[in-house]
Amino acid sequence: MSDVPQASSVSPKRCPACYDGSLSASERDHDLEVAGLRFVARLPTEACDRCHEHFTQGDDLEHFEIAVAVELARLGVCTPAAMRFMRKSLGYGAGELAELLCVAVDAVISWERGSAPLPVHAFVIVGQMARESLDGRGRGNIKDVLRVLADPNRLLPANPIRLMLRFRR
Ligand SMILES: [Zn+2]
Repeated sequence: MSDVPQASSVSPKRCPACYDGSLSASERDHDLEVAGLRFVARLPTEACDRCHEHFTQGDDLEHFEIAVAVELARLGVCTPAAMRFMRKSLGYGAGELAELLCVAVDAVISWERGSAPLPVHAFVIVGQMARESLDGRGRGNIKDVLRVLADPNRLLPANPIRLMLRFRR
């Protein structure tokens, strides 16, 4: 992580670092190191006109982290450190992810410690969840599919299933 403090509940007026300057919209490069790779993105900040401290919104940092997770998946960085980062970027505990993937929580912990081989399909699923989180939610996204699969009492509709399609012309 870099030296940018988080300040999600800060008044846009007064600087919370020096209590003297006032804040105005700015932006700054933020960097993140995961699995030996360095990721950089320009994030919106609020900058103090006195002490020149920058403040980044927690939501914007989360957005950056999910984008890094997507990039890790795209680059095929199928490593324990990347898997752990990707899971956390999505806000899942090890237990939650284990439940979604229908595996024991010990399995997830072992993958992330590197004490058991990380299955490629689990890596791909988590990468795809990050992708869908970045793109916004849609019907039938991978998380919904996993939830349905994990439900032993799932019912299939008796009526015809109507699909609302939009065709390009
Ligand atoms: Zn200040």
